Amino acid sequence: MKENNTTNCNGYEAMFTFLGDEDFQKHLETCEECAAEHAKMQRVSELIQEAKPYIKQKKKQWKVLATAAVFFAAVFATLSVPLCMVGVDVYDNVVAQNTYDAQELGLPVDEYGFLYIE
Ligand SMILES: [Zn+2]
Repeated sequence: MKENNTTNCNGYEAMFTFLGDEDFQKHLETCEECAAEHAKMQRVSELIQEAKPYIKQKKKQWKVLATAAVFFAAVFATLSVPLCMVGVDVYDNVVAQNTYDAQELGLPVDEYGFLYIE
């Protein structure tokens, strides 16, 4: 009965989950269905590996855009401070909000809470 556990097929996912690496490889040699399924899975994982650099690059581009957006928001807030002096509440809200956004994005900020660029 023991030898049956690599030849009896309960479906690819079940075999993949419940068999050890060695037993699973043995099962692939005896089960055409699972071997075909496994080849498919290998192809998918290859595609993911191929796509990884592109996904990373996209994230990087997004980060640059976010940094630029926060930078311009900070500059705008700084330039508009004199105009907002009429209402201290508005000034507080603008500065507080920009501080929160920059820090929330994990960007470096200076002691005033503005974006810090080296
Ligand atoms: Zn199988």
